[in-house]
Amino acid sequence: MDDFYKENILDHYRHPRNAGKLEHPTHSHEEHNPLCGDVIRMDLRVNEQNIIEEVAFTGKGCAISQASASMLTEMIQGKSLEEAKQIGKEEILEALGIEIGPVRLKCALLSLKVLKAGAYGLSEEDWNTDDEEW
Ligand code: ZN
Repeated sequence: MDDFYKENILDHYRHPRNAGKLEHPTHSHEEHNPLCGDVIRMDLRVNEQNIIEEVAFTGKGCAISQASASMLTEMIQGKSLEEAKQIGKEEILEALGIEIGPVRLKCALLSLKVLKAGAYGLSEEDWNTDDEEW
């Protein structure tokens, strides 16, 4: 494992960016990863121009799940919903920067699942983590 990425993940885990809840979110969603016990809830405040003005998350679970949520909030803040929708599995894995096995993939992608379900109303069936498409 590359030390830089490992340190980066631990830094996000210990000092999560955009941690907390929003006062008046326009979108709010929570998902669980029963395999690992991870929970992530994400609040978005999207303005009339469809720009994500504010994002916050709360959660508990392993370092990978929480770090990926923290990284994702940094990626989407200030972006339009359309731009945020383009973020996929590859971007998350690239941000984490370490080798992720099939079991940990659920941890790594939980935050993305929360975003997609919360912001775009995609249902569980749309969320097959084995599907390269998403
Ligand atoms: Zn996990």
